Amino acid sequence: MPQYNVAKTFADRRYKVQSARTYFYLNEATCERNVEIFQDCLHAVEHFSRQVTIFTFVGTTYGTGITAVKLTALGRPQLLLQLSEVIMRARKFVSDVVGGRGNVIGQKLSADELEKRLIQAGVQDTKKFLAKVVKDSEGVIHLFPWSGIVDENFQLSDTFRVPSIKEGRMVRLISQLSAKEEEMFRNMIRRLNTLIRTAQQLDVRIMIDAEQSYFQPAISRITLEMMRKYNTEKAIVFNTYQCYLKEAFNEVSTDLEQAKRQNFFFGAKLVRGAYMDQERARAAALGYPDPINPTYEATSEMYHKTLTECLRRIKDLKVKGKPNQIAIMVASHNENTVRFAIEKMKEIGVSPEDKVICFGQLLGMCDYITFPLGQSGYSAYKYIPYGPVNEVLPYLSRRAMENKGVLKKIQKEKTLLLSELKRRLLKGQLIYTPNGDYTPV
Ligand SMILES: Cc1cc2nc3c(=O)[nH]c(=O)nc-3n(C[C@H](O)[C@H](O)[C@H](O)COP(=O)(O)OP(=O)(O)OC[C@H]3O[C@@H](n4cnc5c(N)ncnc54)[C@H](O)[C@@H]3O)c2cc1C
Repeated sequence: MPQYNVAKTFADRRYKVQSARTYFYLNEATCERNVEIFQDCLHAVEHFSRQVTIFTFVGTTYGTGITAVKLTALGRPQLLLQLSEVIMRARKFVSDVVGGRGNVIGQKLSADELEKRLIQAGVQDTKKFLAKVVKDSEGVIHLFPWSGIVDENFQLSDTFRVPSIKEGRMVRLISQLSAKEEEMFRNMIRRLNTLIRTAQQLDVRIMIDAEQSYFQPAISRITLEMMRKYNTEKAIVFNTYQCYLKEAFNEVSTDLEQAKRQNFFFGAKLVRGAYMDQERARAAALGYPDPINPTYEATSEMYHKTLTECLRRIKDLKVKGKPNQIAIMVASHNENTVRFAIEKMKEIGVSPEDKVICFGQLLGMCDYITFPLGQSGYSAYKYIPYGPVNEVLPYLSRRAMENKGVLKKIQKEKTLLLSELKRRLLKGQLIYTPNGDYTPV
């Protein structure tokens, strides 16, 4: 699968990407250092939450702080590429042998039926393979024991074997990894486990950012299994879904289904996606289909359809007395998307007080969206870049200089601020605290 090959021409993952931080793998020690930074960040969020809890709004923010991390900071990205290929090859195996498209979970296939189809496809020795299949009373959930992936002793190359139809024997889906690569993969998982456990102890939630589509199958799968492991009493781990991807709706629906069947809390951030130009350039250069929706309108439609599906499921669960089983962050600077979310919440019957939908914008951007949302009772967050000043400042200034889209939105903010300043001068209200009684739509 060409998209999961290492492409030297795209080795610089900052190519055509202005709005996301890129981590380059140097060695395992750098990844350990990143864990420390993320841990500092978790403590900063916890500390901030407590301060706000103690001094200002008693009890309103405790346990609601969030830290976002990128998995590529925690290990060798090439391993994510390899794991992504395994996942996509496993899906192809499902289509070839079992029929249907994509994951097996949606097919509600019994283990007996799976065995029958494997035999029909010419596979003889199915016992060993079927023994590892994950199922419940509704049917097969996964063909592989994915839950093991978040286990720190997991051997990647031993787990992913499928019965080959051509060769009539079990074959590996992943090319043999060296002992060193296996160790690097376990290190990455150990680091993520450490961070999530810290988050759990501090009562801070942790979001795993979405990155390039060739890493996403692995990032998303690891995150989902972390959710299954840690989100047993509330949503601590959040995944991210990029709605510019053609597969976004299917991915979210499948993962929501897994959360329902395996009974864990589901947390997700919905974004449009930050790597569009690079994705398109890479797909064209390496000769695979563009994973991005064809137009901006198609991306918006995908965003709204996906959010609606989440809201519909939230409402279903609310009716069944499980109101906070799904938590969603609407991470967007788009006013229409924010309006859409508010209107759909109202229409479907999910209120701001349910505290299952929150909104997120970047620090310094679109305060005219974030503040009224917060002041009218919606949970609203600002994403704050965190790290050593000598790394954060150059990153921020590069973003501000390169990202024209950001500047356009800042222009709007400046115009709004100016008109408010004029209004205050004319009304003699230079020092003025709004009462916060807003209706955001
Ligand atoms: C709190 C927060 C967290 C974020 N976390 C992540 C993350 O983890 N991973 C990540 O990838 N991004 C992340 N982003 C960035 C996000 O994906 C968007 O790039 C950014 O927010 C701009 O989208 P918008 O909805 O705010 O605004 P808009 O200006 O309405 O949308 C712009 C976006 O639309 C899409 N688009 C534009 N033109 C086209 C086209 N021709 N065809 C198809 N689609 C098109 C692109 O995704 C583009 O970025 C985050 C953003 C926020 C606010």
